[in-house]
Amino acid sequence: MSTGGDSARAHSVAAPVRAGILVTGTEVLTGIISDRNGPWLSERLVELGVDAAMIQIVGDRPDDLMAALRFMADAGVALIVTSGGLGPTADDLTAEIVGQFAGREMVLDAELEEQIAEILRPLMSRWPGLDAEAIRSANRKQAVVPQGATVLDPVGTAPGLVVPPSDGARPTVVVLPGPPRELHEMWEKAVHTDAFQHAIAGATVYRWGIVRLYGIPESEIANTLRAAADASVPLASLEITTCLRRGEIEVATRYEASAEPAYAAFLDFLAERHRDQLFSRDGSTVDEQVASLLNGSAWTVAAAESCTAGLMSARLTELAGSSAYFLGGLVVYSNEAKVSLAGVGPELIERFGAVSSEVAEALAIGAALRLGADFGIGITGIAGPGGGTEEKPVGTVCFSVASRDEARLTRRLRLPGSRSDIRDRSTTVAMHLLRRVLVGDVAAAPSSSVRDLRTEQA
Ligand code: ATP
Ligand code: MG
Repeated sequence: MSTGGDSARAHSVAAPVRAGILVTGTEVLTGIISDRNGPWLSERLVELGVDAAMIQIVGDRPDDLMAALRFMADAGVALIVTSGGLGPTADDLTAEIVGQFAGREMVLDAELEEQIAEILRPLMSRWPGLDAEAIRSANRKQAVVPQGATVLDPVGTAPGLVVPPSDGARPTVVVLPGPPRELHEMWEKAVHTDAFQHAIAGATVYRWGIVRLYGIPESEIANTLRAAADASVPLASLEITTCLRRGEIEVATRYEASAEPAYAAFLDFLAERHRDQLFSRDGSTVDEQVASLLNGSAWTVAAAESCTAGLMSARLTELAGSSAYFLGGLVVYSNEAKVSLAGVGPELIERFGAVSSEVAEALAIGAALRLGADFGIGITGIAGPGGGTEEKPVGTVCFSVASRDEARLTRRLRLPGSRSDIRDRSTTVAMHLLRRVLVGDVAAAPSSSVRDLRTEQA
């Protein structure tokens, strides 16, 4: 990862083939558990250059499963990926239905039966009361697979399958288990089979470029795209998607190799127009940038948080290796805790209020001092829904990043959204302030005496 590099994160991927994702399970359909496999598979497919055309969720009913497979085939997908229904019980019927769909007979794979028995053996010795005959027949059921399918070694007890059509016309079906961890592991095996590669083969190679902006509304990007078209940037060869994530804008562009100059021109246009907002040209996240800046500097950080109550500390430790630079965090929710734990002067709270730039600065300096860090982060605000006043409405949050003796960058913002939006967005704001301090970009920073009340755009 680079933090200020000019090269976009553009890698070559395979094929614009279309795929359907079929998530099975009555407990997913009824909302008892929420689907984690559909979105995960969709992201993996996109990485391979395969367009996820649809995600369908169906219960454990044979007719519904078959109807969903046919619907996807009619929509012209080259590949269907299913999740769930591979277990040993009678309601697990994905393999059988997929066999029927592909026009393939179900046959017992003796080698596979022995392999599954091997997996079950330690389980059976741990539970001596189990009915051995019932287990053997469940075991056999899982070893019955469509003839000609590629069998993927079990991750749990169930094997996965890659099932090509018997007539060459229908889509290839990849059958994966429901438990997400098992599905992830088996996906890797599936992708490397010949049958899978054959199904997604023969298409154009695409590249991806991802850039991120912070501090402008999404509507502004729409204006920028219009302006780029007016300025004759060749946008026609670029497939541009913009998406708002945790207060940042991600612009993802897919293009063919021949459109590389067009992408470079678009990137230059973006950088020129949004000089201060374009913080990532290589797709790196602000969290990754902060981590890499800290890793490369030997600096340490600490936090004192009021309204976010530890979320910032948690976010700073999400990336592996954070122990090299993150020393600790203080959760100082009450005024007393701000005074006793972070060393905030009670007179500051008295005079300016707990939610004020002055207290944010005192929290940041206090965090750095108390934990012996090079930089401290202070966050104090009103997450709501109650507690707002006319002068400090709900969403008012004050931030500061400071060294042990002085505040470097302090902001008072009005953040939109619900309580949880405000708390989450606060960590994004703090992360960006920290980044600016670490890159030394604080010249434009107003001192704490300047009241900087901006409404952050949603
Ligand atoms: P098993 O052998 O465990 O029965 P299976 O392949 O038959 O595996 P399911 O019976 O459909 O899979 O699901 C087993 C469990 O995996 C579910 O109870 C659920 O906890 C988890 N699971 C299944 N599908 C999903 C999903 N789409 N998202 C999240 N979790 C899921
Ligand atoms: Mg099951």
